[in-house]
Amino acid sequence: MDNTETLVVIGAGHAGVELAFAARQQGWPGAIVLLGEEPCLPYHRPPLSKAFLCGTADAASLALRQDTAFEASNITLRLGTRVRAIDRAGHQVLLQDGSVVPYSKLALCTGGRARALEVPGMEGGAPRHLFSLRTQADAMAIASAVREGARVIIIGAGYVGLEVAASSRKLGASVTVLESQPRVLARVTGPTLSAFYESVHREAGVDLRTGATVRAIERDAAGAVSAVVCGDGERLPADVVIVGIGMVADTALAEAAGLRVEGGIVVDEHSVTSDPDVFAAGDCTVQDSALYGRRMRLESVPNALEQARAAAGWLCGKPRPNHAVPWFWSDQYDLKLQMTGLADGHDTCVVRGDLAQRSFCAFYLREGRVIAVDAVNRPADFMLAKKAVAAGARVDAQALSDTTLALKDLLAATTPA
Ligand SMILES: Cc1cc2nc3c(=O)[nH]c(=O)nc-3n(C[C@H](O)[C@H](O)[C@H](O)COP(=O)(O)OP(=O)(O)OC[C@H]3O[C@@H](n4cnc5c(N)ncnc54)[C@H](O)[C@@H]3O)c2cc1C
Repeated sequence: MDNTETLVVIGAGHAGVELAFAARQQGWPGAIVLLGEEPCLPYHRPPLSKAFLCGTADAASLALRQDTAFEASNITLRLGTRVRAIDRAGHQVLLQDGSVVPYSKLALCTGGRARALEVPGMEGGAPRHLFSLRTQADAMAIASAVREGARVIIIGAGYVGLEVAASSRKLGASVTVLESQPRVLARVTGPTLSAFYESVHREAGVDLRTGATVRAIERDAAGAVSAVVCGDGERLPADVVIVGIGMVADTALAEAAGLRVEGGIVVDEHSVTSDPDVFAAGDCTVQDSALYGRRMRLESVPNALEQARAAAGWLCGKPRPNHAVPWFWSDQYDLKLQMTGLADGHDTCVVRGDLAQRSFCAFYLREGRVIAVDAVNRPADFMLAKKAVAAGARVDAQALSDTTLALKDLLAATTPA
């Protein structure tokens, strides 16, 4: 590593920006070039379905860093710049405009794209007023269409779908959510939390339908969406449709370059890919988890940041392997949900606190050990829970449900030193 070496980062999202700044902070002496396809200053994605959609945060407030910060750290930020291919043998990337950028080390932080809805009516592209939500441009288009009284149909009740439902209700729209699974958030949490969020949305006036599939999309003569036809044949008239059925990791560049890709770009704990000169971080990666004993792809800001910092550490000769416990948050209405660990495989779920008061934790245990926790409006408990999951704390389920006993003492008594 010397000052003639260039680090090129593809993708100026959470992972790419963090990687560039962390590398500089940890002593990368050469040039750092950050290439981002989107035209705007890199921004926080989570508010797109929350404060930004509701109109309580503007575009300027979303910036991850001000442009002066890039200059101050001597990071060359090239916006509106799409990378078309990677030439690993030649150690260079090829841009859409035909020019090339040489690299000594390369990092892929390409994130992902919203999964497309594939039903009749979507041929030849989406009709007007049918959106997915991944970028700031998507959020701006949705915000301009969702108005008081508009009939909004949301397809998919994962985090993004439910957050958009909450924001659309705040804006006064009439909201229907269609979820094909038997419960909301089925991919990420247990039945207790799903049932809680279903009741919260229904109380807020959302027409929430589970086990509801989509057979077709209808459009009017002007090419705008006009209705959603459900699997049971019911036709739901719509002014706006938002599709939130997950994301697809953006691995095309990596695949074409012959890197190992298995549902995501395969990286180790230092975010190194199958090529020692190429790193990857964020939503586009998969990594083996020592904690869970399996390969995982995580879609969260904390994971993007941890993997970016691990890459920077390895690049700068200061290894800091990433073994972080996954965590995530979601804001809907007045509810702050924070989740840590992965609940799948739990044998016991203990609720601590009061669902009716909208302030509780759901602890997921396997053979007496805490493997995951969902905390609703309980930030202090969440901090303790995170440590307990990381330590694989053993805890007595009965005692856990007794709120007269302090959580701190319960977890401290059972957490291995
Ligand atoms: C609406 C919404 C709400 C969310 N809410 C939360 C939340 O509450 N909490 C949470 O933890 N996570 C949340 N997430 C997930 C979180 O935003 C992602 O996990 C995070 O953005 C991942 O960062 P990343 O850098 O890997 O990818 P991204 O942020 O997607 O950035 C990737 C960037 O790479 C660019 N790119 C791709 N290919 C190329 C190319 N060939 N050339 C140049 N540039 C390229 C893309 O344009 C993009 O800007 C949310 C996501 C969305 C969409």
